Amino acid sequence: MQRLAKETADAVKENGPAGDGPGTLYIVATPIGNLEDLSPRAEKVLSSVAVVAAEDTRHSGRLLQHLGLRKPMIALHEHNERDRVDHVLKELQSGKDLALVSDAGTPLISDPGYVVVRKARALGIRVSPIPGPCALVTALSAAGLPTDRFLFAGFLPAKRSGRKAALEALRREQATLVFYESPHRILDTLADLVAVLGSERELVLGRELTKTFETFYSGTAEAVLAELQADPHGSRGEFVVVVRGAESLDESDAQSGLDVDKLLALLLAELPVKKVAKIVAELTGGSKNELYQRALALKDR
Ligand code: SAM
Repeated sequence: MQRLAKETADAVKENGPAGDGPGTLYIVATPIGNLEDLSPRAEKVLSSVAVVAAEDTRHSGRLLQHLGLRKPMIALHEHNERDRVDHVLKELQSGKDLALVSDAGTPLISDPGYVVVRKARALGIRVSPIPGPCALVTALSAAGLPTDRFLFAGFLPAKRSGRKAALEALRREQATLVFYESPHRILDTLADLVAVLGSERELVLGRELTKTFETFYSGTAEAVLAELQADPHGSRGEFVVVVRGAESLDESDAQSGLDVDKLLALLLAELPVKKVAKIVAELTGGSKNELYQRALALKDR
């Protein structure tokens, strides 16, 4: 952290002297589709800051225009964030307040801003969040799946092999899973969800949230995939995928109707631990690692 602060301080020094005191970096959430979701506080901050840093200045320029505002803007997107960070910090160091917005929702949530926020904080610049819409929380709040523990995994990899590997790594995760997905990959992703997490896994898909054609699809992964495939507008729009977490081993024991410990013990009499764990994982849908540990413990007993 100290090295980061020094690097950033050096960069700012190069860009010119600081003013009386640094300004504040406001992280401003904007609507994810419905302009009425812009909070009065977000509007107030956008009208008060000297500069707006935006992922797409044309897109956010239209929001400012809608609010009757004209502001100097800095483009800050995923391809130039590292290069632009010093410029943004220089503006803050000169005493100007700056608002960071993304195309939609909360900046930094699958959107640019992480580098700027991290460096600003390392320099002791005040970073103040102006909370508001966020597609993942919006979907989760209405999905009807457990919200006490959830894991937001952003966008899954674009290539099928990477996507399946990422899902495999999450297969035994018991927290509710939340993903973002684009319209041209949603059907492939749902098919991979069925293949890796199982056709019976409960899933809720939020499409075009807060917009005119807001739709929720819910049911087993297989049923939601079939419904989306049958819907002529199904793969249009923006999607949040919410998936029920995996059952605990005890629950899956109960569901499979098998006495897992007895099965492990019987097989252990004939086969090595690794093979036993593999067979029982296939039979019960349980985690190979967890079953391996359980088989080891039984063997030691
Ligand atoms: N920063 C944003 C947020 O706070 O939610 C997310 C930006 S990310 C680049 C865009 C993705 O968010 C979309 O591909 C989609 O998965 C999801 N998303 C954004 N708006 C949405 C909406 N109105 N309905 C459903 N999903 C949405």
